[in-house]
Amino acid sequence: MALINENYLKLKAGYLFPEIGRRVREYTQANPDKKVIRMGIGDVTQPLVPSVLKAFHEGVEELGNATTFKGYGPEQGYDFLREAIAVNDYQARGVDIKADDIFVSDGSKCDTGNIQEIFGQNNKIAICDPVYPVYADTTVMSGKTGVCLDNGYFEGIIYMPCTDDNGFVPELPSERPDLIFLCFPNNPTGTVASKEVLKKWVDYAIANKSVILYDAAYEAFITDESIPHSIYEIEGAKKVAIEFRSFSKTAGFTGTRCAFTVIPEELVAYDSNGQAHPVKPLWTRRHTTKFNGVSYPVQKAAAAIYTEQGRKEVKEVIAYYLENARIMRESLTKAGYMVYGGVNAPYVWVKTKNGMKSWDFFDKLLNEANVVGTPGSGFGPSGEGYFRFSAFADRDNVYDAMERIKNLTF
Ligand SMILES: *Cc1c(COP(=O)(O)O)cnc(C)c1O
Repeated sequence: MALINENYLKLKAGYLFPEIGRRVREYTQANPDKKVIRMGIGDVTQPLVPSVLKAFHEGVEELGNATTFKGYGPEQGYDFLREAIAVNDYQARGVDIKADDIFVSDGSKCDTGNIQEIFGQNNKIAICDPVYPVYADTTVMSGKTGVCLDNGYFEGIIYMPCTDDNGFVPELPSERPDLIFLCFPNNPTGTVASKEVLKKWVDYAIANKSVILYDAAYEAFITDESIPHSIYEIEGAKKVAIEFRSFSKTAGFTGTRCAFTVIPEELVAYDSNGQAHPVKPLWTRRHTTKFNGVSYPVQKAAAAIYTEQGRKEVKEVIAYYLENARIMRESLTKAGYMVYGGVNAPYVWVKTKNGMKSWDFFDKLLNEANVVGTPGSGFGPSGEGYFRFSAFADRDNVYDAMERIKNLTF
């Protein structure tokens, strides 16, 4: 008799984005004449930039020529890309990360989920609430939790509520976690962590022998000079933090697929006798056993982001999204909303009006303004009463959507 992994039965059935899709389909089928503007799912809208496209094409051509053909590449990524990452994303910011610490992959979603495999079953996991749903769901899948309680929390996870009371930055938990997921700039709240905040977490992890799993997928959107782009800008972080980065939002690779994970040599975790072991060899073993590398043309395309021209082009696209965010912040504030994020992140997080529930606000916005956003409660119970707008949109749609929202009556 084949047995299933029963942890999957604990997961909540209706995942956020399918439910949004269902409600939007229902509305558009009933109202085929209405133009619905989508600012819901966190997917980019602008095409790959010319430098990336050119390198991508060249990579494909090389594969079609016997003298330049490539089969399997190194599982951890080609040296040309790992070097470019180490030099430009880290060493240029005064952070001593080596190419050898970098593992190129097909996505940060996969990496943030898969990373748990190299850590023991008895780890206590701390997760922000609200946040990117992948951390909690993969913790459940891995068997580290009990069932989902009525309040939306899974038994066994340490939740760290992030609300306007604490500026959407988590406080140190009262129960000691072993693994701590942090995500800055944050999805969904669009808020960032200062050097002081990150230092507090790094010191806490050192004191408690914990590991921080730091998701920096939106690092490229940081505009404020004082905000760290990498957790390794904090002293001591190399001993206690793994960093996840992705080209998805940085350079429009959501469909192309390329990301990377950094595991410094100094990072240790412990066996049941309390003896320290370096973590990097475990991930090396996992990665090389279960993953066969990102395709060569995609890695060539990713490396083009680090050329002078590529960097300029990618910056322009990010500036475009951030200008969308600025317009949204300004319009929503004028329309009387409490608005957060959207300065160092492509997400604008608003408090609904009159204490409306997130999904009620979603329905009102869809039905009366034909605008789709994301209900905050879909990211965790503390997101209830909030709503996320994505700045990954076309400018004309941003103006139209803001005008329609302005005209809503409550
Ligand atoms: C979009 C996103 C990612 C990137 O995932 P990929 O698999 O690399 O596309 C990672 N973390 C967060 C929080 C995200 O929103």
